[in-house]
Amino acid sequence: MVFMFRVIYSERFLDYTVRSVHPERPQRLTAIVEALQAAPWADQLDWQEPTPITQRDPLPWLRRCHSPEYLAKTEPLQRLAGSVLLLAVNAWLDGVDYAVQSRGAAFALTRPGGHHAERDRGMGFCILANAAIAAHYALTRPGIERVAILDWDVHHGNGTQDIVASQRRIAFCSLHQFPCYPGTGRAAETGDFENVLNIPLKAGSTIVEYREALTAQALPFFERFSPDLLIVSAGYDANSADPIAGMNLEPADYEMLTELVLRLQCPILFGLEGGYDCDSLARSVVATIEACLGKVQVR
Ligand SMILES: [Zn+2]
Repeated sequence: MVFMFRVIYSERFLDYTVRSVHPERPQRLTAIVEALQAAPWADQLDWQEPTPITQRDPLPWLRRCHSPEYLAKTEPLQRLAGSVLLLAVNAWLDGVDYAVQSRGAAFALTRPGGHHAERDRGMGFCILANAAIAAHYALTRPGIERVAILDWDVHHGNGTQDIVASQRRIAFCSLHQFPCYPGTGRAAETGDFENVLNIPLKAGSTIVEYREALTAQALPFFERFSPDLLIVSAGYDANSADPIAGMNLEPADYEMLTELVLRLQCPILFGLEGGYDCDSLARSVVATIEACLGKVQVR
């Protein structure tokens, strides 16, 4: 049986620019797309355009995660960006649908990231909280009682945590450089229902520390929670080549991280967060999907 891996992507995600010189730039996605198309298993990739917002309005799901005041504030930005931000949300929702229905894996290749966006404010480069929104959407799908979010972006997912800490059906674990932007993510932050696990890591950490954090803490935390779906806030700025942080992962290490995560044996959606060195970012996404192609079984 040939296993296909679903990638949800639109060239419209290239239209969104903050200003001409900015680390969160369209080339991040073009580098990933080129690397995936050049992979030896490129014919196993199943590319999907996100559902147009005229067909599925993501606003009801945004409202579950962001305050009316904040959404009103971001409306002009959403219009300016030609609704690209909303289309990106739809890509994550499509990824949920695919992962749940196929009991397989998907990757939402979107930008900008979302995990710093809190209920009432955008932060970092993030405007809408894609991962938290996707988790709330997933909880309305048949058979989905519990959703886990793993955030391996080098920065703490303060926005996701802000939105899901009071939601007992969502478990959130973040591995991040600490101290570092945005300054949150201490181990003492555990959510209203012990549903949050923060694993702060020292600058300079390598795959050794990441593997230990996953196997000793994150995976047991998720196993106890027993999720029906895992969403990975997949940022790749913990790479040693990344210009805005100080960790020492290499692109190939994401294959191991992904293999560890696949042990949870539940449907899985990866969604792009950070990663600002285009070459290592692209190679890391390749490593992530390669691990899935080797391990994820279609039932
Ligand atoms: Zn980041």
